Amino acid sequence: MKLVLIGGPGAGKGTQAKKLSKHFDIAHISTGDLLREQMKLGTELGKKVSEIMNAGGLVSDDIVSAMLAERIKADDCKKGYILDGYPRNVSQAEGLEAITGKLDKVLCFNVDDEVIVDRMTGRRGCPKCGQMFHIKYNPPKKDGICDACGEALVQRKDDNAETVRNRLKVYHETTAPVIDYYSNKGILAEIDGVGDIDEIFAKAVAALEDVK
Ligand code: AMP
Repeated sequence: MKLVLIGGPGAGKGTQAKKLSKHFDIAHISTGDLLREQMKLGTELGKKVSEIMNAGGLVSDDIVSAMLAERIKADDCKKGYILDGYPRNVSQAEGLEAITGKLDKVLCFNVDDEVIVDRMTGRRGCPKCGQMFHIKYNPPKKDGICDACGEALVQRKDDNAETVRNRLKVYHETTAPVIDYYSNKGILAEIDGVGDIDEIFAKAVAALEDVK
C-alpha cells in the first residue's frame, strides 16, 4: 500500500502517519524528519538546508526527491509506505510516480489556519524518545519534562509564530494545488483534521477501505 498524506503544517499528518504505519505495518517516511536528521548529523546537506527550513521555506525538489528515492529502497518499504510531507508542490507530485510507481490513495487533512497556529506554537517534543506534547492540550506531567523518559522537552525551531505563518503561506500557495492534482486523478480523500486523534484516525482508516 502506497499512501500520501497532505495537509498544512501541524494538520496532524505526522501523528496520523505514525498510527497508520502501525495499523497497516508499512513504513512512515517523513521528508521533514529525513532533512532534520541531516541537520542533526551536521552533514553538508544538513548545513545547506538549515537556513531554508528554519525560515519555513521549501528545500529544492532535487534534494528532497533524491532523498526520498534512496529511502524507499530500504527493506522496511517493501510492503508499502506512507509519505508524510511529500509531495509539497505540483512538480514533486508530477515526478512522484516515477519514483514510487502507482499510488493507492492520497489523504488530505483539513484544518483551519488559526487552529494550526495554536497547535504548532504550543508543540513540544522530546529529543530523546520522540514523544510529542502540547503545552495546552497535552501537557507533560512536569513542566518541560518528557513523561516517558525524563528528558527536557524542546520546541522545533520552525514552530515559532512567524515561521508557522510563513509555512502556512507556502502551503496555501504551493502545496494546496497538489490537492486538485490528486482530486483530478480520482485518488483523493479529504478528512476533517479537527477533533479527537482516534476519531480522525478512524476516518482515515475508513477512507482506505477500498485499498488493498
Ligand atoms: P515538515 O516536518 O513536513 O513540516 O517539514 C519541515 C520542513 O522541511 C519544511 O518546512 C521544508 O523546509 C522541508 N521539507 C520537508 N518536506 C519537503 C518537501 N517535500 N519539499 C521541500 N521541502 C520540504
